[in-house]
Formats: sequence, C-alpha cells, structure tokens
Amino acid sequence: MFNKDLGQHILINPLVSQSIVDKARLKQTDTVLEVGPGTGNLTIKILEQAKRVIACEADARLAAELTKRVQGGPYQHKLEILHGDVMKRDLPFFDVCISNTPYQISSPLTFKLLFHRPTFRCAVLMFQREFALRLVARPGDSLYNRLSVNCQLYAKVSLVMSVGKNNFKPPPNVESSVVKIEPLDPPPPIDFEEWDGMLRIAFSRRNKTLAASFKSTATMQMLESNYKTFCASNEVMMEEGFDIKQRVLGVLDKLGFAETRASKMDIDDFLKLLAAFHDADIHFC
Ligand code: SAM
Repeated sequence: MFNKDLGQHILINPLVSQSIVDKARLKQTDTVLEVGPGTGNLTIKILEQAKRVIACEADARLAAELTKRVQGGPYQHKLEILHGDVMKRDLPFFDVCISNTPYQISSPLTFKLLFHRPTFRCAVLMFQREFALRLVARPGDSLYNRLSVNCQLYAKVSLVMSVGKNNFKPPPNVESSVVKIEPLDPPPPIDFEEWDGMLRIAFSRRNKTLAASFKSTATMQMLESNYKTFCASNEVMMEEGFDIKQRVLGVLDKLGFAETRASKMDIDDFLKLLAAFHDADIHFC
C-alpha cells in the first residue's frame, strides 16, 4: 500500500505532528512549504495555523487523497498541491518549511532549502536520527563531518525532539529526530564551490592531519591544474621552480594547521584556511 522507494512512513501520532508544527511558531500570515504531505496528517495541523500551504507530493495517488481530504472544508482554498518531485522543481516563495522528509532525499533537500532565496525564516524537518545528529554535530563530536560544517555555515541548527519508530506506519528501520534550521540572514558571502572543494579534501581522511589529507597525489595534481588555470586566466606568470606541494603545505604551516585534524576544526578555522589559500592563489574548483 505504501511505496518504500518514496520513503512513505506516515506519521500516525497526532501529538508528534502537533509538536512539529508548534516548533515552527507559525504566524497567521505565513506561507508554509510542506515537502511530501502524504495523506495530510501534518498538513491539516499546518493549515489550522498558517495563511497558506504549498505542499509538494511525488505520489499522484496521495496527492489525490489529500485533495479529497480538504475538499469542501474550510482549508480547501488555503492549500495548493504541487504534484511531482520536489528536487526537480523551483521552489515557490515560503516563510517556513515543515516536512516529515522522505529520507532518501535528506541531504539534497537540505541544501536545496539552504540555497533557496529569499531566505526563509525556519524549517522544521524530520530526518533519520543519524542524519539529524550530523547536522547539529560540533567539532570533536564523532558524527561531525562536511555536512555538519556546510549546514552550520548557512544556518543555526538545533535538535528539537526524538521520534521513535512506532509513531509511523509502516515503522521505518531506524529512529528519527526533528531538527529546526534557521538560515543566517544575510547568508555568508562564500563561494560555495570553493568552500566545499576545500572541505572535501580536508575531510577526505577525517582523522588524519590536514597535511596528510592535502598531500595526496590526486589532490596535488588537482590543485596544480587549478593553479595553472588561475595563472592563465589572470595573466599571472608562473614562478620558475613553482612547487604546488610547498605552496600548499606553506599555507597550512603558516596558520599552524598542518598537524590539525578537520574533525576538530570549527567554521572560523575553515574560513581562515580558505582565505589563506586564496591569498596564495590556491583554488579548489
Ligand atoms: N507528511 C506525511 C506524514 O508525515 O505522514 C508523509 C511523510 S512520508 C515520510 C514522505 C512523503 O514524501 C511521502 O508522501 C512521499 O510520497 C513523498 N515524497 C517522496 N519523495 C518525494 C519527492 N522527491 N518529492 C516530493 N515528495 C516526495
């Protein structure tokens, strides 16, 4: 009856649905984006508090069921259902996003939301517990990784509550948690491709030192090729005897990061590192 490929685990505990909606602190003027409304258990609670709900549902059968559920009722005109894959469409304007997310799109959906402009006020999202814990992990935590850093670069992220498997039908294999994401406004003026390119290298060997991660042959080749492209497009003469390894390790040494592990670095450390690489004309894309 439910499509596992679409992550269909219906929230059957009305207390949990109500808590999720309450955590969003909706205003009567809010437009809310809901991703994957399913049969509408969360949708109805959102409709009770918001001005308008735009719900994007991939499953035509469930979209029809939800249409029927509100038909002729007081909320019919407040609800717009978009049928299709949320990842394949431009998002409309919204103030708040609420979703019991299909877990297979957790990461791309999070970044689609974080890159959405204008920035929204907050998103209250249900995820698999491990994914949620990664989003909020701090330097030194065992789950701290590139996802934690990237998400926290753009938003304040907090854990709202844990939700056990039995609150869903059918129950998923893993426990779930709800997080609240409040984007920084204005967003930090970062070239994300450059930033993420650097983080990919820094976290490629999570528990190794930065010097070890950056020294890999493939990384050095990539950085050297980027350096040549940079010189060519900026009409900079390549110095005689230029050695990419020396240049990269020089930056790490200068900042005192050569023996530091990415798993212990915070966002300010990574910002300093990227600025120092750019000062040395080292680029990541
Ligand atoms: N919101 C409902 C609830 O809480 O009971 C259902 C949540 S269920 C975990 C996820 C929902 O997202 C399903 O209705 C599924 O069909 C829908 N879905 C899955 N992938 C989607 C996608 N790429 N775009 C939009 N909806 C999607």
